Amino acid sequence: MKIRSKALREAYALLEKATPLGRADCGLACGAVCCTDKTGDSMELFPGEKEIFSLLEGFEVIDGEVPLVKCHGSCDREHRPLACRIYPLFPLVVNENGEEKIRVIYDPRASRACPLASERVRLDRRFTRAVRRSGKYLLKDAETAEYLRKTSEFLKELIELEIKLGL
Ligand code: SF4
Ligand code: SF4
Repeated sequence: MKIRSKALREAYALLEKATPLGRADCGLACGAVCCTDKTGDSMELFPGEKEIFSLLEGFEVIDGEVPLVKCHGSCDREHRPLACRIYPLFPLVVNENGEEKIRVIYDPRASRACPLASERVRLDRRFTRAVRRSGKYLLKDAETAEYLRKTSEFLKELIELEIKLGL
């Protein structure tokens, strides 16, 4: 798998082995719902991933303003898109004292499917750190940084809406 973007390459490497619960397989408890339920569902691709997944067997890329990818519910771990590597977290871009920083949060979109997210389970520190560091790398690349900023704004609005609705 050839990854042209340096930022993406670093993010992939950081999240190659790190998993939400460290050595424990969280998929055993929930039946790997984030994978099995994804047959028919799709994940957003980060800039630079469309080219990769268009060429990989077992994936279907849907083009658009933000390209999406569908899988068949199982994959070679080495070939997971970034959305799966960071799930159920997200490296949110925040502005603090005029400086952009990464704050790792539970992705509000994961709350419906993932028991770790709905129960706000404390995750393995190495995983959380890897998500934060991957976010910092993604901020170094203009395209991935732009995607990260846009998605962060969307997620902030979603969180605000959920608070207003008392969800
Ligand atoms: S849904 Fe959550 S708990 Fe289940 S496998 Fe995915 S990340 Fe782990
Ligand atoms: S690409 Fe792999 S890790 Fe991601 S949802 Fe599909 S089976 Fe799960």
